[in-house]
Amino acid sequence: MRVHSRRKTHKLQIIAVLAVVFLVYISAARRAFPAFDLLRDIKHSAADMDNGWNLILVNRDNYIPDGYTVELTELSNGEKVDSRIYPELQEMLDAARAAGLGLHVAAGYRTQEEQQQLLDEKINAYVDEGNPEPEARTLAEQWVALPGTSEHQLGIAVDINEDTESSRDAVYDWLAENGHKYGFIKRYPPDKTDITGVINEPWHYRYVGQKAAEEIYMQGICLEEYIGSIRRHGRSKNVDIKRSLDRYS
Ligand SMILES: [Zn+2]
Repeated sequence: MRVHSRRKTHKLQIIAVLAVVFLVYISAARRAFPAFDLLRDIKHSAADMDNGWNLILVNRDNYIPDGYTVELTELSNGEKVDSRIYPELQEMLDAARAAGLGLHVAAGYRTQEEQQQLLDEKINAYVDEGNPEPEARTLAEQWVALPGTSEHQLGIAVDINEDTESSRDAVYDWLAENGHKYGFIKRYPPDKTDITGVINEPWHYRYVGQKAAEEIYMQGICLEEYIGSIRRHGRSKNVDIKRSLDRYS
């Protein structure tokens, strides 16, 4: 009986030591790799709505929750957007036009089926170019989000193109400099590809609301970083996200 109990104590001691080693290891890993900490709880799950509809994070790891519904407003060219972003979208387009630019929303809301069709078309295009199916799919997925992971299915993202009389770069430059004033962010900047998983898309603007858009713009971060920081620090503290990231790098 005594032998048994001593063994039990010994086992408990080993478990305690292992637990301490594990905790030390995790805390060191978090310090060495901030992305590990930042992204650890936003992997492969339905996007949460905790931060409000305008800050829902949808990407390859966070899919649109089942039953997500959206009330749509139709634009003059037939594209549709979430009614809640319509007033500021219109304001932004009006301001760009007042600055002498010609531009339009080339793509707004998409259904799951439309997203699937878009992906299939892209895969077929790569197959037609002579790529075997698996490669064609990989290439296509760099350009077209998997159904269920596209912000276009939320209705709060738009692709904005130039009209024929305007230069493409002039439109993209204006949007990059001014979008945040109307609550929109350039969702996939070229220097954040490793985090967003999406190549540079200077035409894709995502509504997040003015406060978040200003913070994201001023700090030069992407939505994944912004949401990660909110989850770690909360919104109310209004932390300098860029500085808190720099501290680790
Ligand atoms: Zn887009």
